[in-house]
Amino acid sequence: MPLQIYISGKFYDKENAKISVYDHGLLYGDGVFEGMRSYSGKVFRLQAHLDRLYESASAICLTIPMTKEQMEADVNKTLQLNSLQDAYIRLVVTRGSGSLGLDPNRTSDPQVIIIADSISLYPEEYYQKGLKIITASTIRNHPAALNPRVKSLNYLNNIMAKIEGLQAGCIEALMLNTKGEVAECTGDNIFIVKKCVLQTPPKDAGILEGITRNAILELAKELGILAEEVTLTRHDLFVADECFLTGSAAEVIPVVSIDGRTIANGDVGSVTSRLMAEFKKLVHK
Ligand code: PMP
Repeated sequence: MPLQIYISGKFYDKENAKISVYDHGLLYGDGVFEGMRSYSGKVFRLQAHLDRLYESASAICLTIPMTKEQMEADVNKTLQLNSLQDAYIRLVVTRGSGSLGLDPNRTSDPQVIIIADSISLYPEEYYQKGLKIITASTIRNHPAALNPRVKSLNYLNNIMAKIEGLQAGCIEALMLNTKGEVAECTGDNIFIVKKCVLQTPPKDAGILEGITRNAILELAKELGILAEEVTLTRHDLFVADECFLTGSAAEVIPVVSIDGRTIANGDVGSVTSRLMAEFKKLVHK
Protein backbone atom coordinates (compact mmCIF):
# COMPACT_ATOMS: atom_id res chain seq x y z
CA MET A 1 0.00 0.00 0.00
CA PRO A 2 1.40 3.44 -0.90
CA LEU A 3 1.99 5.87 1.96
CA GLN A 4 -1.31 7.28 3.16
CA ILE A 5 -1.43 11.04 3.66
CA TYR A 6 -4.12 12.63 5.77
CA ILE A 7 -5.77 15.77 4.40
CA SER A 8 -8.65 17.24 6.38
CA GLY A 9 -10.27 14.03 7.50
CA LYS A 10 -9.51 11.80 4.51
CA PHE A 11 -6.58 9.62 3.49
CA TYR A 12 -4.95 9.76 0.04
CA ASP A 13 -2.17 7.81 -1.66
CA LYS A 14 1.01 9.88 -1.60
CA GLU A 15 0.81 10.79 -5.31
CA ASN A 16 -2.80 11.90 -4.97
CA ALA A 17 -2.34 13.96 -1.80
CA LYS A 18 -2.87 17.47 -3.16
CA ILE A 19 -4.22 20.82 -2.07
CA SER A 20 -5.28 23.92 -3.99
CA VAL A 21 -2.73 26.23 -5.61
CA TYR A 22 -4.88 29.03 -4.17
CA ASP A 23 -4.13 27.89 -0.63
CA HIS A 24 -2.55 30.76 1.28
CA GLY A 25 -0.20 28.26 2.89
CA LEU A 26 1.42 27.96 -0.54
CA LEU A 27 0.86 31.52 -1.75
CA TYR A 28 2.10 33.27 1.40
CA GLY A 29 3.45 30.69 3.82
CA ASP A 30 0.30 31.48 5.80
CA GLY A 31 -0.11 28.59 8.20
CA VAL A 32 1.57 26.68 11.00
CA PHE A 33 3.26 23.31 11.41
CA GLU A 34 4.88 20.80 13.72
CA GLY A 35 7.62 18.23 13.23
CA MET A 36 7.37 15.25 15.56
CA ARG A 37 8.92 11.85 16.11
CA SER A 38 7.40 8.54 17.05
CA TYR A 39 9.33 5.85 18.85
CA SER A 40 7.92 2.30 18.90
CA GLY A 41 4.63 3.64 17.58
CA LYS A 42 4.23 6.37 20.21
CA VAL A 43 4.61 10.07 19.40
CA PHE A 44 7.11 11.73 21.72
CA ARG A 45 5.44 14.56 23.68
CA LEU A 46 2.46 14.74 21.32
CA GLN A 47 0.54 16.90 23.78
CA ALA A 48 3.32 19.49 23.93
CA HIS A 49 3.50 19.58 20.12
CA LEU A 50 -0.27 20.04 19.87
CA ASP A 51 -0.20 22.80 22.48
CA ARG A 52 2.50 24.60 20.50
CA LEU A 53 0.61 24.10 17.22
CA TYR A 54 -2.60 25.56 18.62
CA GLU A 55 -0.69 28.44 20.23
CA SER A 56 1.09 29.20 16.94
CA ALA A 57 -2.27 29.16 15.16
CA SER A 58 -3.87 31.41 17.74
CA ALA A 59 -0.96 33.89 17.42
CA ILE A 60 -1.65 34.24 13.70
CA CYS A 61 -5.46 34.34 14.15
CA LEU A 62 -5.92 30.97 12.47
CA THR A 63 -8.67 28.78 13.84
CA ILE A 64 -7.78 25.11 13.52
CA PRO A 65 -11.00 23.40 12.41
CA MET A 66 -10.83 20.55 14.93
CA THR A 67 -10.27 20.00 18.61
CA LYS A 68 -6.91 18.96 20.02
CA GLU A 69 -8.45 15.62 20.96
CA GLN A 70 -9.54 15.00 17.37
CA MET A 71 -6.12 16.08 16.09
CA GLU A 72 -4.40 13.73 18.51
CA ALA A 73 -6.61 10.84 17.36
CA ASP A 74 -5.94 11.64 13.69
CA VAL A 75 -2.16 11.83 14.18
CA ASN A 76 -2.22 8.39 15.82
CA LYS A 77 -4.51 7.02 13.13
CA THR A 78 -2.13 8.22 10.38
CA LEU A 79 0.77 6.53 12.12
CA GLN A 80 -1.13 3.27 12.58
CA LEU A 81 -2.57 3.19 9.07
CA ASN A 82 0.96 3.40 7.67
CA SER A 83 2.21 0.76 10.14
CA LEU A 84 5.02 3.05 11.26
CA GLN A 85 6.92 2.56 14.50
CA ASP A 86 9.87 4.96 14.35
CA ALA A 87 8.72 7.77 12.15
CA TYR A 88 8.82 11.47 11.46
CA ILE A 89 5.44 13.16 11.51
CA ARG A 90 4.76 16.47 9.83
CA LEU A 91 1.57 18.22 10.85
CA VAL A 92 0.57 21.23 8.75
CA VAL A 93 -2.38 23.59 9.05
CA THR A 94 -2.81 26.05 6.20
CA ARG A 95 -4.99 29.15 6.06
CA GLY A 96 -6.95 27.50 3.24
CA SER A 97 -7.67 28.60 -0.30
CA GLY A 98 -8.83 32.09 -1.12
CA SER A 99 -8.40 34.94 -3.53
CA LEU A 100 -5.05 36.20 -4.81
CA GLY A 101 -4.60 38.73 -2.06
CA LEU A 102 -3.20 38.69 1.45
CA ASP A 103 -6.55 39.08 3.19
CA PRO A 104 -7.00 36.00 5.40
CA ASN A 105 -10.71 36.82 5.67
CA ARG A 106 -11.05 35.93 2.01
CA THR A 107 -9.95 32.35 2.55
CA SER A 108 -12.00 29.36 3.57
CA ASP A 109 -11.38 25.79 4.68
CA PRO A 110 -8.03 25.69 6.46
CA GLN A 111 -6.41 22.40 5.47
CA VAL A 112 -5.01 19.97 8.01
CA ILE A 113 -2.28 17.75 6.60
CA ILE A 114 -0.61 14.87 8.42
CA ILE A 115 2.36 13.13 6.82
CA ALA A 116 3.94 10.22 8.67
CA ASP A 117 7.01 8.87 6.92
CA SER A 118 10.09 6.89 7.78
CA ILE A 119 12.77 9.12 9.21
CA SER A 120 16.08 9.63 7.46
CA LEU A 121 18.44 9.87 10.38
CA TYR A 122 21.59 11.98 10.38
CA PRO A 123 24.73 9.89 9.84
CA GLU A 124 25.93 8.24 13.06
CA GLU A 125 29.32 9.90 12.54
CA TYR A 126 27.85 13.31 13.46
CA TYR A 127 26.79 11.96 16.84
CA GLN A 128 30.15 10.38 17.52
CA LYS A 129 32.44 13.12 16.25
CA GLY A 130 30.21 16.20 16.55
CA LEU A 131 29.23 18.90 14.08
CA LYS A 132 31.17 21.86 12.80
CA ILE A 133 28.88 24.86 12.45
CA ILE A 134 29.18 28.49 11.41
CA THR A 135 27.31 31.63 12.38
CA ALA A 136 25.04 32.79 9.58
CA SER A 137 24.99 36.48 8.73
CA THR A 138 21.21 36.19 8.40
CA ILE A 139 19.78 37.12 11.80
CA ARG A 140 16.69 35.52 13.32
CA ASN A 141 13.40 37.32 12.70
CA HIS A 142 12.75 40.25 15.02
CA PRO A 143 10.02 39.06 17.42
CA ALA A 144 7.98 42.14 16.56
CA ALA A 145 8.13 41.21 12.86
CA LEU A 146 7.36 37.51 13.12
CA ASN A 147 7.91 35.98 16.51
CA PRO A 148 10.16 32.90 16.26
CA ARG A 149 7.93 31.31 18.91
CA VAL A 150 5.34 30.91 16.16
CA LYS A 151 6.18 27.82 14.14
CA SER A 152 4.78 29.22 10.93
CA LEU A 153 4.98 27.91 7.38
CA ASN A 154 7.04 30.99 6.60
CA TYR A 155 10.51 29.54 7.17
CA LEU A 156 12.53 31.62 4.72
CA ASN A 157 14.40 33.32 7.54
CA ASN A 158 15.79 29.94 8.60
CA ILE A 159 16.25 28.73 5.03
CA MET A 160 18.44 31.75 4.20
CA ALA A 161 20.68 30.86 7.15
CA LYS A 162 20.62 27.17 6.21
CA ILE A 163 21.89 28.08 2.71
CA GLU A 164 24.79 29.97 4.29
CA GLY A 165 25.60 26.92 6.41
CA LEU A 166 25.44 24.53 3.46
CA GLN A 167 27.62 26.82 1.36
CA ALA A 168 30.19 26.65 4.14
CA GLY A 169 29.90 22.85 4.26
CA CYS A 170 27.86 22.78 7.49
CA ILE A 171 24.50 21.06 7.97
CA GLU A 172 23.50 23.54 10.67
CA ALA A 173 24.14 27.24 11.16
CA LEU A 174 23.90 29.42 14.22
CA MET A 175 21.55 32.39 14.11
CA LEU A 176 21.92 35.50 16.26
CA ASN A 177 19.03 37.76 17.26
CA THR A 178 18.66 41.45 16.45
CA LYS A 179 20.79 42.30 19.51
CA GLY A 180 23.64 40.11 18.28
CA GLU A 181 23.00 37.50 20.97
CA VAL A 182 22.88 33.77 20.33
CA ALA A 183 19.35 32.68 19.43
CA GLU A 184 19.27 29.17 17.95
CA CYS A 185 20.21 27.20 14.86
CA THR A 186 18.09 27.01 11.71
CA GLY A 187 16.10 24.01 12.94
CA ASP A 188 17.54 23.24 16.37
CA ASN A 189 18.03 24.88 19.77
CA ILE A 190 21.53 25.34 21.16
CA PHE A 191 23.08 24.54 24.54
CA ILE A 192 26.53 24.94 26.02
CA VAL A 193 28.16 23.55 29.13
CA LYS A 194 30.46 25.90 31.05
CA LYS A 195 32.06 24.84 34.33
CA CYS A 196 29.55 21.98 34.67
CA VAL A 197 26.55 24.31 34.21
CA LEU A 198 24.19 23.79 31.28
CA GLN A 199 23.22 27.03 29.57
CA THR A 200 20.76 27.84 26.81
CA PRO A 201 19.29 31.12 25.55
CA PRO A 202 16.00 32.15 27.19
CA LYS A 203 12.66 32.12 25.36
CA ASP A 204 12.81 35.88 24.90
CA ALA A 205 16.08 35.61 22.93
CA GLY A 206 13.79 35.19 19.92
CA ILE A 207 13.74 31.41 19.58
CA LEU A 208 11.34 28.59 19.02
CA GLU A 209 10.70 26.98 22.39
CA GLY A 210 11.79 23.50 21.38
CA ILE A 211 10.08 20.45 22.81
CA THR A 212 13.47 18.70 22.88
CA ARG A 213 15.00 21.77 24.57
CA ASN A 214 12.41 21.57 27.31
CA ALA A 215 12.91 17.82 27.69
CA ILE A 216 16.66 18.39 28.12
CA LEU A 217 16.09 21.10 30.74
CA GLU A 218 13.82 18.68 32.64
CA LEU A 219 16.33 15.84 32.32
CA ALA A 220 19.13 18.05 33.62
CA LYS A 221 17.04 18.84 36.68
CA GLU A 222 16.36 15.15 37.33
CA LEU A 223 20.05 14.30 36.91
CA GLY A 224 21.18 17.08 39.22
CA ILE A 225 22.92 19.01 36.44
CA LEU A 226 22.64 22.76 37.05
CA ALA A 227 20.87 24.41 34.13
CA GLU A 228 20.07 28.01 33.34
CA GLU A 229 18.36 29.98 30.61
CA VAL A 230 20.71 32.86 30.09
CA THR A 231 21.76 35.34 27.40
CA LEU A 232 24.70 33.96 25.43
CA THR A 233 27.04 35.59 22.96
CA ARG A 234 29.25 33.98 20.33
CA HIS A 235 32.13 34.50 22.77
CA ASP A 236 30.38 32.28 25.33
CA LEU A 237 30.14 29.59 22.67
CA PHE A 238 33.78 29.92 21.62
CA VAL A 239 34.99 29.47 25.21
CA ALA A 240 32.44 26.82 26.21
CA ASP A 241 33.51 23.43 27.56
CA GLU A 242 30.84 21.66 25.50
CA CYS A 243 28.16 22.51 22.98
CA PHE A 244 25.21 20.60 21.50
CA LEU A 245 22.01 21.12 19.57
CA THR A 246 18.52 19.74 20.20
CA GLY A 247 15.56 19.12 17.91
CA SER A 248 12.90 16.53 17.23
CA ALA A 249 14.69 15.25 14.13
CA ALA A 250 18.30 15.56 15.35
CA GLU A 251 17.51 14.68 19.00
CA VAL A 252 20.74 15.67 20.83
CA ILE A 253 23.73 16.26 18.57
CA PRO A 254 27.17 17.47 19.68
CA VAL A 255 28.93 20.52 18.22
CA VAL A 256 32.74 20.57 18.29
CA SER A 257 33.59 23.64 16.24
CA ILE A 258 31.97 27.03 15.67
CA ASP A 259 33.27 29.52 13.09
CA GLY A 260 36.59 27.68 12.96
CA ARG A 261 37.05 27.78 16.75
CA THR A 262 37.40 24.31 18.25
CA ILE A 263 35.21 23.91 21.33
CA ALA A 264 37.46 22.87 24.25
CA ASN A 265 39.63 19.99 22.97
CA GLY A 266 37.32 19.17 20.06
CA ASP A 267 35.88 16.01 21.57
CA VAL A 268 32.24 15.32 22.41
CA GLY A 269 31.85 16.42 26.05
CA SER A 270 30.90 14.17 28.95
CA VAL A 271 27.73 16.09 29.92
CA THR A 272 26.65 16.00 26.27
CA SER A 273 27.26 12.24 26.05
CA ARG A 274 25.31 11.68 29.23
CA LEU A 275 22.36 13.76 28.04
CA MET A 276 22.40 11.99 24.66
CA ALA A 277 22.13 8.64 26.43
CA GLU A 278 19.48 9.81 28.89
CA PHE A 279 17.43 11.38 26.11
CA LYS A 280 17.48 8.06 24.24
CA LYS A 281 16.13 6.36 27.37
CA LEU A 282 13.45 9.03 27.79
CA VAL A 283 12.03 8.73 24.28
CA HIS A 284 11.72 4.97 24.66
CA LYS A 285 9.98 5.15 28.05
N1 PMP B 1 14.33 25.90 16.47
C1 PMP B 1 13.76 25.91 15.27
C2 PMP B 1 13.85 27.13 14.44
C3 PMP B 1 13.09 24.77 14.80
O1 PMP B 1 12.51 24.78 13.59
C4 PMP B 1 13.03 23.62 15.62
C5 PMP B 1 12.28 22.39 15.19
N2 PMP B 1 12.65 21.91 13.95
C6 PMP B 1 13.68 23.65 16.86
C7 PMP B 1 14.30 24.81 17.27
C8 PMP B 1 13.65 22.45 17.77
O2 PMP B 1 12.36 22.27 18.27
P1 PMP B 1 11.81 20.83 18.68
O3 PMP B 1 12.73 20.33 19.74
O4 PMP B 1 10.44 21.12 19.22
O5 PMP B 1 11.81 19.99 17.48
